[in-house]
Formats: sequence, C-alpha cells, structure tokens
Amino acid sequence: MELQFKLKAYFKTSADPAPAKDAIAAHIEEANNSLLTKGAPEGQGAKVTEWKLGEDRIELVLESGRYVRVHDAIFRLKKQLSDALGKKFRIGIRGVEVESFTILVPAEHELKALKVPYVKSMQNLEGGILLELEVGEAEMKNRVPDRILTLLEEKIEAAQYGAKAEHWNLLWQSESKEHPFKEDPTQAMLKEGWLKRGASRGQWIHGPQSTKVFRTFEKIVFDELLQPLGYREMIFPKLVTWEVWMKSGHAKGIYPEIYYVCPPKTRDPEYWEEVADHYKVTHEVPTKLIKEKIGEPIGGMAYAQCPPFWMYVTGETLPNEDVPIKVFDRSGTSHRYESGGIHGIERVDEFHRIELVWIGTKEQVVKCAEELHERYMHVFNDILDIEWRKARVTPWFMAQEGLLGLAEGDVIGTTDYEARLPYRGEDGDWLEFQNVSINGDKYPKGFNVKLQSGEELWSGCSGVGLERWAATFLAQKGLNPENWPEDFRKRIGELPKGIRFL
Ligand code: ATP
Ligand code: ZN
Ligand code: MG
Repeated sequence: MELQFKLKAYFKTSADPAPAKDAIAAHIEEANNSLLTKGAPEGQGAKVTEWKLGEDRIELVLESGRYVRVHDAIFRLKKQLSDALGKKFRIGIRGVEVESFTILVPAEHELKALKVPYVKSMQNLEGGILLELEVGEAEMKNRVPDRILTLLEEKIEAAQYGAKAEHWNLLWQSESKEHPFKEDPTQAMLKEGWLKRGASRGQWIHGPQSTKVFRTFEKIVFDELLQPLGYREMIFPKLVTWEVWMKSGHAKGIYPEIYYVCPPKTRDPEYWEEVADHYKVTHEVPTKLIKEKIGEPIGGMAYAQCPPFWMYVTGETLPNEDVPIKVFDRSGTSHRYESGGIHGIERVDEFHRIELVWIGTKEQVVKCAEELHERYMHVFNDILDIEWRKARVTPWFMAQEGLLGLAEGDVIGTTDYEARLPYRGEDGDWLEFQNVSINGDKYPKGFNVKLQSGEELWSGCSGVGLERWAATFLAQKGLNPENWPEDFRKRIGELPKGIRFL
C-alpha cells in the first residue's frame, strides 16, 4: 500500500463554464503532464483523474502521493485556470469547495481513532489507515492536511518503535562489586530517622543527615566539574509557560506528567471571600469552588529544568568568541506526576537536580559532552566508588522528531548513567541516576538563537538527579559513614545529628 491523497472538490465559477470546455480539457491535460508534476520525482506528481462541468462549477477529482500533494495541486490548477478563463472567456473562479478529502496511509499496526480537529473519520484497513478530513480552502492553504499526516505517521512510528525491543546500547560498565548492604535505602533512611514523607504524593522532607549527603554531592559536582570546566551558575524559572514548552518541543507530549499551574481569575478579596468563609465554617477547603475561580493553566512546574533557561537567549545572536556558553542551575525543584511509578526517594513527584546546559558549534558541544563524561567517570569511580554503567538511549522526543535516521544520529542523543541497586537482587533493574544529552540544533532552532558567524548552533544538557545519586550511593554503601569511601567521608565530614521524637 502506498500513501495516497484523494481530493474531490469543485471550483465555483462566476458563469457557466460550458463555452470553455475545450480549453479546460486542454489545460487539465497539460497540467497532468507538467504543472502538477513539478517538484516530484518522475511519475509521482499529482493528477486530475476525473473532471466534469456543472452550471456554476468545475468539478474535479485529484489524486497524489507524497510529493505534489492534492491540496498544493489544486491551488496550482486554480491559478492557471483563473488566468486562462478570465482572459479568454471572462469566467472567474470564485473559490474552492471541498466535497471530500481522504488520505490513505500505509501502516502495519492498527491505531485508535485520532481525536483532532479536521479529522472526520478514521478507518483501519488491511495494511493501512484511511483518514477522511473535513477541510476547506483555508485549511488546505494552511497545510492542515500535512500536519495531520505528520501526526499520524508519528503515531505509526511510535507503534513500531514501541514494538521493537530496546533502544539501549551499553557503552561502558564498571567491574562488579561486592555489596554487603542489601537494604532498600529509603526504608533504611526512614528507620534511621533521616527523612519523612511530605504531605504531598511522591514528596519527602529530608532531615539534616540526607540533606548533608545531597549538599556534599552538589559540592563534588561543583568542585570536580562545574568549577574546573567553567560553568557559570544561573537561576532558571521554575514555573514554565506553554510558550516555553511549545518552543522546546515538550508541548508535543508531556501532558500526563505535568503539575499544572492556574492563577486566580482575580486577586480581589471579595471574589475569594466565599472560599475563605466556607473554610472557616466547615473546616474544609472547597476545592470545587476554587476550581471555578481559577483561570486556565498557564503552564506547569519545572519538568526538564533547562527549557525555561532558553528564554534568556531567545532571539539573540551570540558572539563567536563567547561560545561555548556553559551554565548550570540548582535553584529549585522539578515536578513530575509519576503516578503508580513513585518509589522511595528515587522516583518522586518533587525532586532536586543540578542541570547543566552548554551551547556552541557542533564540535564544541560534542567536546563539552566528552569532558563531562570524563569527569563523571572520575567522580563515580574514584570518589563515590559505585558500580555503574553508561548506555546510549534514544529519547522519545528524538525518535518522534525523526532525528534518529540522520547522519548525526551517532552523536545526537542521550547517554544514561545507571547503577545497580543491590536490594533488587542480581537481575533487578538498574536505576538511571543521571544523563548527558547532545540535543543537536533542537533548542537553538526552537528558541531562535544564532551564532555571529552564521555557523549552526547546537546544545547539550546534563541532569544530575540528587535523589537518584543518593538512592544509588546509599543502596550500595549503606547508611553507616564507616562503610563509605575515604574520599567521600573526607568531603562530607561529620554527619549532623537528626531530629529526635519521643
Ligand atoms: P526514568 O526513565 O527513570 O523515569 P527519565 O528518562 O524520565 O527517567 P529524564 O527525563 O532523562 O529522566 O530526567 C533526567 C534526570 O532527572 C534523570 O536522570 C534523573 O536523575 C532525574 N529524574 C527524572 N525523573 C525523576 C523522578 N521522578 N524522581 C527523581 N529524579 C528524577
Ligand atoms: Zn535538559
Ligand atoms: Mg520518567
């Protein structure tokens, strides 16, 4: 089965087109052989497959494949016929009316119906999917059919991608180590009074002990990476608007994991008095009433940490001598609705991360990533002394944006750092505790950032998850500082006393 567009439409004419019948026939014949094939490989242009005249219209059926698509073809034809009929026959073409618009898309898997504007119906056939669109002249001009096709093709690819085993390639693995400690570190920390559950789901309140562990990790990252490699600290916003996620590409898919943010419709105390009074009388917060009084979500809480940074450089041109730019943020939490997946301190809805971002030419961006890999290697082998491995993974958004098949495919992408959790046993899943990503031109393009020389800008980012580092380190080394590596013990110093309860 091949991709096929089919459009049934008519041109509305200002007069009966009958007198121009022979001229129309000649133009259509000519269009099928040249006008509607321009820009397409031999034999793959669009074609008028049927036509007839009505009293006030020229009815047409157009068919095409991927190249000159029916909705382009019809405007080419409209222009040519308008010119020809106007001059010679004084017949005007008033507009295009669409009777039906279908796209037949090859697919191996069945898909559930798309719920998007302009799709009238969707049918799974043997070897393909038949879409019927409800579009008019304006939508065809605005390329809506193209976007619908792209969307469907992404879903077809997703179904195939999901069916494939794993996009995971081992790059490096440390020697296996003995791990006498076999407990789930979160349970152990709870027992030792290092932390408590927060009031919200997937949220912890870290006591002085685990906080010191986190801060020591931060200090290691600062001393061993950020400082020597010249990363400058910035403060990125933590409330992220749709504009940012539209530009970063996250608007294409993070909806199930967002913590949404809604502002009040007004800050007039009178408007809110009812809510306050309700609470005072019932001692219940009237959330339904609140829902009526807040506006639509303006965005959500920080999810990936680096996207809001890009508003700092959006629309700007960077001086040649200032790249690569290297910055980091550790100014606040990230939030994800992890649903049933929450577990211990390692999969939480509110977490802490140091996010590194670098921007430069392709060569610079690749080199920055290599420097980081080298330094991380030193930290995990010589300071934390953990059992870990590194793997290339293909993040979903990259696959989705077709960046997979590119020639640069071998440098663009994410390297995950994973560690063994001894309490899960020999065959247990390893835990991703951080990553290093080379994002190609995705962000500079999305946020329109340029380099003075005109050379293409690339970027990369790396997220150091402090909860994940802690879960990894404590799972392998336990909670007793006496069993921690010497170098780490020196850096953390005395562990503070916890808060006791009677
Ligand atoms: P996972 O597959 O484990 O859910 P992810 O692929 O969603 O991870 P990324 O989007 O790559 O994670 O996020 C980068 C880093 O942020 C992770 O390596 C991890 O350190 C941290 N992180 C992500 N989600 C969480 C979470 N729910 N709890 C704690 N840390 C997290
Ligand atoms: Zn990032
Ligand atoms: Mg995740």
